[in-house]
Amino acid sequence: MDNIIKQHIALISVHGDPAIEIGKEEAGGQNVYVRNIGEALAGMGWHVDMFTRKASPEDATIVEHCPKCRTIRLKGGPEEFVPRDRIFGYRGEFMNNLLKFQEEEGIKYALVHTNYWISAWVGMEWKKRISIPQLHTYHSLGAIKYKSEEAIPLIASTRLEVEKTVLETAERIVATSPQEKALMRSHVSSKGNIDIIPCGTDIHRFGTMNRRVARELLGLNPEDKIVFYIGRFDRRKGIETIVRGVALSQLRGNPHLKLIIGGGSRPGQSDGIERERIEEIVGQLGMTDFTTFPGRISDELLPAYYTAADVCVVPSHYEPFGLVAIEAMACGTPVVASNVGGLQFTVVPEETGLLAPPKDEIAFREAIDRILTNPEWRNQLGEAGRRIVESKFSWDGVAYQLSNLYTSLIPKSERVLIQVSA
Ligand code: UDP
Repeated sequence: MDNIIKQHIALISVHGDPAIEIGKEEAGGQNVYVRNIGEALAGMGWHVDMFTRKASPEDATIVEHCPKCRTIRLKGGPEEFVPRDRIFGYRGEFMNNLLKFQEEEGIKYALVHTNYWISAWVGMEWKKRISIPQLHTYHSLGAIKYKSEEAIPLIASTRLEVEKTVLETAERIVATSPQEKALMRSHVSSKGNIDIIPCGTDIHRFGTMNRRVARELLGLNPEDKIVFYIGRFDRRKGIETIVRGVALSQLRGNPHLKLIIGGGSRPGQSDGIERERIEEIVGQLGMTDFTTFPGRISDELLPAYYTAADVCVVPSHYEPFGLVAIEAMACGTPVVASNVGGLQFTVVPEETGLLAPPKDEIAFREAIDRILTNPEWRNQLGEAGRRIVESKFSWDGVAYQLSNLYTSLIPKSERVLIQVSA
């Protein structure tokens, strides 16, 4: 027999809509994280409401994901895409609509789990009005992000202040890697309670396809040497480093060398500038004949791309966790990543892939070439990656740890438990 908790909990992700198509505009890891933990927690018995900002009049106000798990889109500013740094200006309207929704539905939430600093503010405001434990996941730390950026936005000081206050006042902070926890301590505050619970991946969706089948599906040849990137088009993702690294590869001139740079929206959208810049560099370096930009990759095809690749490259300048690395590993594909943030936690050098200093195209070239020119070792790295993901990074395992943490933070007198067979 096991105890199942059947209380209402609120996940707040103001700018990262859990129900939206991933790969669009700024949608990425946070959206995937919130949706997957929400659904997994609902499967364990929690009633999960995930609150986000309504960014289009065409988007449904409420999306039911599965029994007991829904996304609720609240008005906060214009119903259109707003870059995340400008969303904070609409926080008051979002907050009022959250309170209104709670009152109209008559729901007493037992706990709030906030995501990213804008939502941290919402959670802290909510706590001023009702007694509710708050957990927070940062997804990105301003103090680290701004170190790797040339232009610091005006909102920076507000963000840094909110990030410090939430660390010191939330009932619990969820760091997704020991590296992230260390950065919080060294750059944000020595006060506050931090637990480490990683992000996860769907080990049934990723890693169940055969490599030959994946290549056939994508029209790729068995002899091809495929270097793969997937993710948002944002400077901090370091896509330029892969391009410059592959330009120097010892396989340059080999007709089987292929570089696939996936993700990003259509030109004219917010991430179009970076995509155009990268396409220009590819052109300047004479790489257009072996480089493709498939754009946003659908949920159905993404596992095939990871599986078909010889190596997946994650060259971020800063990466709090990096879901792409564990998705590739789940598919048995080695990862070459920057030795920053959560990538140092997920990618084990010489065991599941290789690490290189960010922005160092020579080091990336060497690491990529070592894997491309040694297919047997490549497969060993891939198999070890799959094993590590199965043991440490499945969504079910992550949700189980979060569920235990939630339960411990809800006062005993308020816990609603039912007994079910395990
Ligand atoms: N992603 C996707 N399709 C795309 C681009 C990205 O599904 O076209 C997903 C990718 O599989 C991963 C997430 O977006 O789950 C990116 O998460 P990550 O933590 O690597 O980066 P972030 O977006 O948080 O910076």
